[in-house]
Amino acid sequence: MNHYDITIIGAGLTGLTAARKFHSAGKDVLLVDKGRSVGGRLATRRVAEGKADHGAQFFTVRTNELQQEVDQWIKNGWIKHWFGEDYPRYTAIDGMNGLAKHIANGLNVRTHTKVDHWREYGEGYTITANDSSTWRSKKIIVTTPVPQAVALLENSGVEAGALERITFQPTYVGIFHFEKPTNLPPTGHIDKQLPAGVERIVDHYKKGISKDVVVSVYMTAEWSTEHYGENDVLDRIKEIVNGYLTFGDAVSEQLKKWRYAQAAATHSRSYKAVTGSVFVAGDAFLRPNDASGRTRFESAFISGIDVAKAVMK
Ligand SMILES: Cc1cc2nc3c(=O)[nH]c(=O)nc-3n(C[C@H](O)[C@H](O)[C@H](O)COP(=O)(O)OP(=O)(O)OC[C@H]3O[C@@H](n4cnc5c(N)ncnc54)[C@H](O)[C@@H]3O)c2cc1C
Repeated sequence: MNHYDITIIGAGLTGLTAARKFHSAGKDVLLVDKGRSVGGRLATRRVAEGKADHGAQFFTVRTNELQQEVDQWIKNGWIKHWFGEDYPRYTAIDGMNGLAKHIANGLNVRTHTKVDHWREYGEGYTITANDSSTWRSKKIIVTTPVPQAVALLENSGVEAGALERITFQPTYVGIFHFEKPTNLPPTGHIDKQLPAGVERIVDHYKKGISKDVVVSVYMTAEWSTEHYGENDVLDRIKEIVNGYLTFGDAVSEQLKKWRYAQAAATHSRSYKAVTGSVFVAGDAFLRPNDASGRTRFESAFISGIDVAKAVMK
């Protein structure tokens, strides 16, 4: 059976950031994810000859830690300034999932592996995945959205305590491939004066990441909660944004349903030690002085940095 110093459950930005820190410190770290690829909510879908981001679209920077990384990512040619002068909005050159893959390069990652539970064993744990594979680890960091972390803790016989109060809201995203260019602004992004229920619309051709005209329509958390699970969601979205897009030119349409998109309430520390060797981190864990107060790319990044430091103390 394999043994690791640290197992990180979830290879989204929080897990990837923590794993990079451990990797640099020479720790034996395993990163596992149930998905087909790393990235989690940094998600990009191929559509015909093009692609569409359908999770995070961009990120802003309020901390020195992320600014340093951003400067390096720009030098590497991984990201670019998309729009916004007061708070620059950065986005990935190849789509946000491409950035996650760059960060994961060289790390020990196992995808298609859904952790089911762990049990104490000696000075560490035996971890079991849904495919019945098992391995041992001295420490565990859970970086899934909090409701999934709570379920894992409960399955493993660990009290989740106050984490149970952190709930997440869903988001629906309609993804449309068009034959002809859209009338959206030159940046390809619009999030002002949209009809009720619509958060933002993004044309990925104009954004510069797609050869084809592929557009993502993001619905608000409130709208997505109200219509969650209904079977005519895509038709409803099309009806609402009909004045912005010409659906007569549409070649294909798809719907992405995020059950856990953003936290409705956050934790006021950047990670939580639930026992001496089991930690929970993620975008819902904010530093007490967090300048934005919201779950976002930067809160995931900072949580990853802080939990790695705490584990190595
Ligand atoms: C629709 C949408 C739009 C967004 N827009 C923006 C934006 O424009 N700007 C911004 O800053 N932020 C945005 N965000 C938020 C941003 O994407 C997240 O804050 C950030 O990516 C979260 O990273 P994370 O690593 O904490 O979690 P995640 O990315 O959710 O990673 C958790 C990982 O855990 C894995 N996992 C879950 N359970 C298990 C298990 N049992 N075993 C193994 N693996 C498991 C999942 O597969 C996933 O990959 C958006 C999010 C969504 C959904």
